[in-house]
Amino acid sequence: MLGLMQDIPLLISSLIVHADRHHGDVEIVSRRVEGDIHRTTYRELHSRAKRLANALDALGIGMSDRVATLAWNGYRHVELYYGVAGKGAVLHTINPRLPADQVAWITQHAEDTLLFFDLTFLPIIEKIAAQCTTVKAFVAMTDAAHMPATTGIANLMCYEDLIAAQDDRYEWPAFDERVASSMCYTSGTTGNPKGVLYSHRSTLLHTFAVAMPDGLSVSAKEAILPVVPMFHVNAWGIPYAAAMAGAKLVFPGPALDGKSLHELIEAEKVTLSAGVPTVWQGLLGHMEQHDLRFSTMRRTIVGGAALPPAMLRTFEERYGVTALHAWGMTEMSPIGTACATRAKHAACDREALFAVKGKQGRAVFGVDMKIVDQAGTELPWDGIAFGDLLVRGPWIVNEYFRGEGGNPLVTDASGLTWFPTGDVATIDADGYMQITDRSKDVIKSGGEWISSIDIENVAMSHPAVAMSACIGVAHPKWDERPLLVVVKKPGKEVTRDELLRHYEGKVAKWQVPDDVAFVDAIPMGATGKMLKNKLREQFREHRLPGA
Ligand code: ADP
Repeated sequence: MLGLMQDIPLLISSLIVHADRHHGDVEIVSRRVEGDIHRTTYRELHSRAKRLANALDALGIGMSDRVATLAWNGYRHVELYYGVAGKGAVLHTINPRLPADQVAWITQHAEDTLLFFDLTFLPIIEKIAAQCTTVKAFVAMTDAAHMPATTGIANLMCYEDLIAAQDDRYEWPAFDERVASSMCYTSGTTGNPKGVLYSHRSTLLHTFAVAMPDGLSVSAKEAILPVVPMFHVNAWGIPYAAAMAGAKLVFPGPALDGKSLHELIEAEKVTLSAGVPTVWQGLLGHMEQHDLRFSTMRRTIVGGAALPPAMLRTFEERYGVTALHAWGMTEMSPIGTACATRAKHAACDREALFAVKGKQGRAVFGVDMKIVDQAGTELPWDGIAFGDLLVRGPWIVNEYFRGEGGNPLVTDASGLTWFPTGDVATIDADGYMQITDRSKDVIKSGGEWISSIDIENVAMSHPAVAMSACIGVAHPKWDERPLLVVVKKPGKEVTRDELLRHYEGKVAKWQVPDDVAFVDAIPMGATGKMLKNKLREQFREHRLPGA
């Protein structure tokens, strides 16, 4: 017997319809590529998303056709989130920080039919336009006044002209909630990038989880600044959750430096922000240098890479901002865990509380996880045993676009399928997961594993260290030994020996790095994460003392 409740599909269009009807006056503020601050509301955004859907119809874009973007965080990008997916096409957000030839490869692989881009990325488009044979038109996300005068692009259109020509009467179609809504390619640090194809159902379920109090806690009381790009796994679902809840959205556009972010946070009374640790490094560095404070920001979500304990303390002790550590992957839409504390932690002292908050957190409902040994046997949740982290759930990848890379899942003894994350982790008795490392970054020293994250965290607690990466370097006796690569803070000094002494009493003796290399910069990937494979390449010939 089926239940007798209304069978309404979970569709992305319902989020913007809800936002328009129930909190249509809530603001969306964007720093534009054109240089100014732009203000709109959910109501106006909905109207423009409907014009856009009409324009897409006029251009012959049908169900499941891919429509790509190369764009910063801003209101036009949100219009594309709703206009494209709402009409049943697939929004393909491309990371513009990828090398141009990879952007072209991804566009061809996805068979994108249109490519919308911010003016910043015109040089990329000029370079790749001829190679993108499936793209019928390139649309500059600007108005007629800012259109580039001459380009080498034959089929170039203007976003504002495109939607101005259309009516805002549009009935969002109803269809199967399992229809594809959007896609993101993994960064391809190992092999070709792989396409992850989200559905309306997976996105809506993920949105509920994101909004939950022990998820990212998104409510109508918040003004949210997602620094995490809308091309980095849908800005962790914030553009959807904010529309669901009625939160104000504040978009930084292309200005991601510490000064611009701080100004925007203060001017727009931002209460919550989200981004990777390297972005916060820039913001905190700027604030320290100019002795600045936050007047409204109460919380920040840190994910994409491990939150260094020193950064957690700076946010909480110096600025009174709660740092919420979260973990996920492109293949997971992306949220898997968030590190909200439980009632029992109220009794914890400060140090014990920081130890909990430094972990990646508990699984949100919808995600199941387990750690297994090499044979696939589940390991205990004791906070000590570490193993390969596997996940399953309705917003986790089942297969990659066009079957790339074969079947990504593993089947356990009970016949359940799991996605292996490639991360190594512990889970404690309270359900808090902690990433030890990415399996390919773990340093294997004489059969023992050293967590590069642990070693980096100690370095980051030294006042002269701006950024650190720990990598394994070949060693004749131990196979691999840790090398610490460090960027110093401007105007600060520290020597190799001082840094190594800083490890005394903080990690086991055999985990202390064998050497320190000082560099001007650590190579960063397209989503603001350190590229350890590049570093390993760079230091392949590095001779460790005594090796
Ligand atoms: P990529 O970086 O390969 O483009 P993702 O953005 O999907 O792909 O990154 C997912 C990976 O990032 C995870 O598997 C994990 O290794 C790392 N990661 C994400 N969040 C955290 C976190 N809070 N702590 C440590 N590592 C994290």
